[in-house]
Amino acid sequence: MNQTAVAELPAAARRVVLLHYSEIGLKGKNRHRFEQQLIDNIKLALSDLWQGRIQRLHGRFLLPLADEALWPAVKARLQQVFGLANFSPAVVVPAEKPLIEQACLALMARQRYGSFRVHARRAQKNLPFTSQQLQVDVGAAIQAMSGARVDLSHPEVTCYIEVTNDQALVYTEKVSGARGLPVGVSERAMVLLSSGIDSPVASWKMLKRGVRLSYVHFHSIPFTSEASLNNTRRLLQVLTRYQYRAVLYAVPFLPVQQAIMVNAPPDYRVVLYRRFMFRIAERLAHRERCQALVTGESIGQVASQTLTNLRVISQVCQLPVLRPLAGDDKEEIVALARQIGTFEISTEPYEDCCSLYVPRHPTTAARLETVQEIEARLPVAELVEAAVREAQKETFRFPATETSS
Ligand code: ATP
Ligand code: MG
Repeated sequence: MNQTAVAELPAAARRVVLLHYSEIGLKGKNRHRFEQQLIDNIKLALSDLWQGRIQRLHGRFLLPLADEALWPAVKARLQQVFGLANFSPAVVVPAEKPLIEQACLALMARQRYGSFRVHARRAQKNLPFTSQQLQVDVGAAIQAMSGARVDLSHPEVTCYIEVTNDQALVYTEKVSGARGLPVGVSERAMVLLSSGIDSPVASWKMLKRGVRLSYVHFHSIPFTSEASLNNTRRLLQVLTRYQYRAVLYAVPFLPVQQAIMVNAPPDYRVVLYRRFMFRIAERLAHRERCQALVTGESIGQVASQTLTNLRVISQVCQLPVLRPLAGDDKEEIVALARQIGTFEISTEPYEDCCSLYVPRHPTTAARLETVQEIEARLPVAELVEAAVREAQKETFRFPATETSS
């Protein structure tokens, strides 16, 4: 049973958020770049909620949190910052045993639990107490206060103590971070973003690896409504939460589609559409200093996604084409889309530009020679040039995501 009298925090205690990142493989210059990008991203993610200085401390960060009421909102934002392993609302006290114990009692007194453990770590070894002593003594004090039992393997609550330099951090809640790498440490790529289920998930997976993304969407307005472009904009509002600023190129695709429809047999149209999309996307990628294209293609998911067709499609561009969903099943992709929050937007009804003029049975094995013969009858360069010229650029920002031309 927990005691009702609430122990007070020591007067010297400061409230912070303690952030841990995964350090595996980080050395020298890379580590500095990783840390700086992560700090910049955290500041951007919180920019409308919190302003202050983030302190670096032995592979951890401390974010002062003057107002405890901010915690729920700060927590929700930090959960979307790639590069964080976990984080905790914590209190900092001077590294003196009585103060550490008092802070632990104050935090533990606010909770109800039948079992607990104390987990202590020291970054400095020149302290007048060991981690083991701290665990035993603080554990005894918590037990005396609460009457709860110590359970080292499956405790209901863990009281964590981390002692660094002359400070100690105490916390009882550990929130899992999004992991991955901070967006911006892995250069840039251009995503071909439809408003379907797959390409937003492909984007998210690349963002998770630290790649900063720009986006291109092909539409058939005015032949179709604005719905697919509007859904794409809504998807970008979700994706911008992970990268804070993003650009979208909305490209009118109708002239390309009409040229293909007139000149190509139905079963080759999808492959030809994709080849034009890749050519146009590559041009825009150079403009945005991108090193790769990204698509939501998954092997064998639809007829245009056989290895033979992917090869014929990729053949038009020099940049590497990343297909982060290549090996994923649809169920896995859908589960991720739900988790990210893009599934509802992606499944709203709309007319995709590619549902226009798409035959019932597209070829699963396009021949490069046939494709090249067809394209020889098309003004390829002019069509690409016109599409690039007509592309409309929009910028998205988070927080306070707004679109502007
Ligand atoms: P998605 O759910 O992402 O639309 P899909 O399974 O429907 O994928 P396709 O329609 O064959 O697959 O498209 C394959 C990929 O081509 C997409 O994942 C996307 O990267 C790109 N793509 C398709 N249509 C468009 C479009 N209108 N604008 C931009 N990219 C597109
Ligand atoms: Mg699609």
